[in-house]
Amino acid sequence: MKKVLIVGTGLGGLTTAMRLIKKGYRVEMLERNAQAGGRLNQIKKDGFTFDTGPSFFSMSYEFRQFAKDCGIDIPFKFVELDPLYSVNFSGSPKTFSLYKDLDKLAAQFAEEEPDFRKKMEKYLKKSGALYNDTVQLVIKSNFDSVIGYLFTLAKVNPAHIPQLFLSFWQHVKHHFDSKEAQQIISLIAFFLGRTPFDTSAIYSLLSHIEFNHDGYYNVEGGMYKIVEGLVNELQKSGADIHYNTEIVGYRNTGNKITSVIDTNGKEWTADAILINADAAVFRGRVLKRKKFSEGNLRKMNWTMGYLTFYIGVKNKLAQINHHNYFLGNNFEEYAHKLEQQPDTLEKPYYYVNVLSKHNPQCAPEGCESLFFVCPVPNLLYKPDWSDKDKIADSIIDDFGKRIGHDIQSEIISRTVYTPQDWEKRFNLYMGSGLGLSHNLMQIGAFRPSNRDEKFRNLFYAGASTVPGAGLPMAVISSGLAYERIEKYLNE
Ligand SMILES: Cc1cc2nc3c(=O)[nH]c(=O)nc-3n(C[C@H](O)[C@H](O)[C@H](O)COP(=O)(O)OP(=O)(O)OC[C@H]3O[C@@H](n4cnc5c(N)ncnc54)[C@H](O)[C@@H]3O)c2cc1C
Repeated sequence: MKKVLIVGTGLGGLTTAMRLIKKGYRVEMLERNAQAGGRLNQIKKDGFTFDTGPSFFSMSYEFRQFAKDCGIDIPFKFVELDPLYSVNFSGSPKTFSLYKDLDKLAAQFAEEEPDFRKKMEKYLKKSGALYNDTVQLVIKSNFDSVIGYLFTLAKVNPAHIPQLFLSFWQHVKHHFDSKEAQQIISLIAFFLGRTPFDTSAIYSLLSHIEFNHDGYYNVEGGMYKIVEGLVNELQKSGADIHYNTEIVGYRNTGNKITSVIDTNGKEWTADAILINADAAVFRGRVLKRKKFSEGNLRKMNWTMGYLTFYIGVKNKLAQINHHNYFLGNNFEEYAHKLEQQPDTLEKPYYYVNVLSKHNPQCAPEGCESLFFVCPVPNLLYKPDWSDKDKIADSIIDDFGKRIGHDIQSEIISRTVYTPQDWEKRFNLYMGSGLGLSHNLMQIGAFRPSNRDEKFRNLFYAGASTVPGAGLPMAVISSGLAYERIEKYLNE
């Protein structure tokens, strides 16, 4: 039986492992941490359970397709979000609820944006066309060369060309007039790890995914149930997972990698190897490739970092929803220069997730489990995080004012992760939360490939290879990597 070794147990690694094992390959996984999941992880502390990174996912049909491909039932339960999330602006008592239903959504903007429904329909029509014209051709395809990729791009409907020259923000501004609609609709650009000002308008296809093509989903019991379900299914199928095992070296014979070597010098062998660690960082730091040397990694365009904090409070907070965005007054100015003013306390927005809202088992009785996420400069722009508690406190104070309930004195559990922690825990380059950014020169055939340049039996899956960041993209990435591995093993 042919064996595949998988380095990393992030979602890209776990889903590739499942595809392989269900098709009859032997699978062995190596993970530097003591538990699986990568960024999709969990903290259990003081009686509270917190999701560490992702708090909802889109494109549920990708998970269904994955399960179908593997011949399994999806090993976790998910629930559609309605509303998707809520948004509050600083200094305003109003909370916008973001519904997929256009009538309900338009009612939210009745005062701020005349003709919202008509404008949104027009905007979503464009976003939908962009999605439909690119998803199969560009997002869900493997590319063997830049020329092949450019050739494919040439087949995309030329009606979308103007979007190539606009930022997400410029595109949204063409469609909406009010500050409220512009900022709320462009918020999704942050989900790609950059700002609406430096994200291409082609990503307005995400608005179609968000509002039309099946919305957002929560996982019952918390997002980590995804990992628990997959690991359980993998182990039942005979996969071996070795934790506390970090790969730092390799051996090769000609154009084949023969083994990877861990920090204790142990060599791990297989017919093919899949890397789920960051595809650029692994090439640079482990394979010592010049193109990905420290100097060159630094020159690449990385996503922002995240300041995340996990707060247990000894009270219920009935006034807030499960998914909440709190926008600052400085959304435009600050988000424009997020990286030039690294130490400012004021943030363009922060997000608060209340996991215990629909999952009471995630907090002790009468308590609430809160997870704050705030986009911040990564370590390239802000290497010193000694002010982490000051920043977290300023956000917690602001949150208290916005919900009319100061939680500072009710906090009984507190954990703060800075980009330094994200870097240390998951080998994320400079603590960049989503890996390589998605600018036009770092996507498709310009992104580090999922097929190694030198070793024919070495492949990659995960956020910094194709197609990109986010949970559904990790699942797609596993499908693309599987296609390559399967072809290689059957040559
Ligand atoms: C704060 C935050 C919030 C997010 N929110 C969302 C969200 O709401 N929805 C969404 O869809 N996405 C979200 N994302 C993005 C999502 O988490 C990632 O895109 C996805 O989880 C990446 O999966 P991956 O397959 O690339 O693996 P990773 O999660 O990067 O896992 C890689 C694994 O490899 C291990 N590893 C690394 N190097 C080595 C080595 N040398 N040897 C052995 N093991 C190694 C790491 O420890 C890790 O376990 C969020 C990310 C962050 C940081």
